[in-house]
Amino acid sequence: MLMPPFELHHPASVKEAVELAGSLMEQGEAFDWVAGGTDVLPNYKWRINPKPHVISLAGIDEAHALSATEIGCMVPLSSLTEENGVHSLLAEAASKVASSLIRKSATVGGNLCLDTRCFWYNQSEDWRRSIDWCHKADCGTGADCRVIPNQNTLCVATYQGDLAPNFMVLNASVVLIGPEGERTMPLTEFYQLDGMKKNVLQTGEFLLKVQLPKESMKRKGCYQKLRVRDSWDFPEAGIAASWLPGDASTLLVASTALESIPRIHTEQVEKHLAAGDLDPVGLAKMVQKSVKPVNNTALPPRYRRSMVKTLTKRALLGILE
Ligand SMILES: Cc1cc2nc3c(=O)[nH]c(=O)nc-3n(C[C@H](O)[C@H](O)[C@H](O)COP(=O)(O)OP(=O)(O)OC[C@H]3O[C@@H](n4cnc5c(N)ncnc54)[C@H](O)[C@@H]3O)c2cc1C
Ligand code: SF4
Repeated sequence: MLMPPFELHHPASVKEAVELAGSLMEQGEAFDWVAGGTDVLPNYKWRINPKPHVISLAGIDEAHALSATEIGCMVPLSSLTEENGVHSLLAEAASKVASSLIRKSATVGGNLCLDTRCFWYNQSEDWRRSIDWCHKADCGTGADCRVIPNQNTLCVATYQGDLAPNFMVLNASVVLIGPEGERTMPLTEFYQLDGMKKNVLQTGEFLLKVQLPKESMKRKGCYQKLRVRDSWDFPEAGIAASWLPGDASTLLVASTALESIPRIHTEQVEKHLAAGDLDPVGLAKMVQKSVKPVNNTALPPRYRRSMVKTLTKRALLGILE
């Protein structure tokens, strides 16, 4: 597959990146951010929504910061290790992403901003043409969604990043920066339930870094991932849990790969604790009930949903050990 032509830009600072984005916007030129390129570049080769301009975040010093409480967007997943002072839960989750080779290029920012996936969409141009496209990459034809037809407004492609639920149960915040300035928000508020929009980033804005409260280092966590091949596959379902050991009121559970966004299950945890039910199976059943995967990834939705109970139970038992 040949890469479509695009102009690659290399800003050397946050200011340059934001100014460049602003000037391309003024000229009406479309662009994408690129970090490790392990997702966006294969998509370009498949002619999935390529843009004429690509802005690399690699030259921005601040984006490479790495400590227990601050992780820059350009930090490669292979650097998320306990030796580098990173929480063991993040190290565990990062070690389960793709393969060791991909983890050397793949970044934290790229993982959190990963495009949503669908087996009608992550295909070559010829394949997609043969089914007359779909709503998310319709090539101007107004094609329908193949998963939920006859609506043509919503894409339900699945978010299949591994890190997000783990950052969520550590109470992480994200720092976003763009032509309109800087803003910080809990990661739980970053995602938007729409397989095309995906998150709250405005055009020209990028995710600069992730911040973690000091308290997060005291949390004990566990991540359980369902995938077809352990060697490198995307999650088909993923459950992260953490707590401050001995204090049930601090329990947090989050999921990924079950809908268009990763989700924190605050309501289910609160109901479970309010009922005085400390049996992990009870909570696992509530989390299972709250998710509704659709048929657009490798494994059937009914199986993925049934595995949510098992994964949640294992994650909870993992933090109780
Ligand atoms: C074979 C294979 C297996 C994989 N398995 C997994 C897996 O098991 N789990 C998993 O989570 N992922 C998996 N991936 C996907 C991908 O490799 C990782 O998610 C990786 O972390 C993406 O990071 P990147 O830096 O390469 O992102 P890029 O490809 O550079 O970017 C991904 C997307 O995020 C946007 N972006 C990147 N950085 C920023 C930023 N700072 N701010 C705003 N937008 C940004 C880009 O525009 C693009 O849309 C796999 C990929 C491959 C090819
Ligand atoms: S969910 Fe529908 S619109 Fe979205 S990528 Fe899949 S088929 Fe296309």
